[in-house]
Amino acid sequence: MRRDILVYPDPFLARKAAPVTVVDDRVRDLIRDMFETMYGAEGVGLAAPQVGVGRRVIVIDVSPVDETIAPLAVVNPEIVERTGSVAGVEGCLSVPGIQGEVCRAETVVVRGQDEQGKAVRIRADGILSRALQHEIDHLDGVLFIDRIPSSEAASAK
Ligand SMILES: [Zn+2]
Repeated sequence: MRRDILVYPDPFLARKAAPVTVVDDRVRDLIRDMFETMYGAEGVGLAAPQVGVGRRVIVIDVSPVDETIAPLAVVNPEIVERTGSVAGVEGCLSVPGIQGEVCRAETVVVRGQDEQGKAVRIRADGILSRALQHEIDHLDGVLFIDRIPSSEAASAK
């Protein structure tokens, strides 16, 4: 089921999401809905707060940018290592029509759980690293536009 995507400045987007205690069918339903919603909106990532759920769950599919990377869902993702720094242009389904250059760590290591509740550890660079950092920011109530001076935010298209 597709869910509605909250749009900035909805105050829910600024709230910190709570950890998932048990990865059960309810969480798996949420993940399935999040993928459906993301694909429906032609996005490459989505965090649960963007569909009004205050839980630490993200989904990512950057295959339109790099087809070698499989879609993934991470529950309770946590960045445990950051290396380097790189600027890149980002957009967000919750901030339609805006793109901006954001400085992020070049490489990250993320720990969390998959949709079965199994522990996962993901080392990422490039677009996947950027997507992970962007989506995990959402879980802490941070939008990419919070990371750039507003004067630099340029209208897309
Ligand atoms: Zn976003």
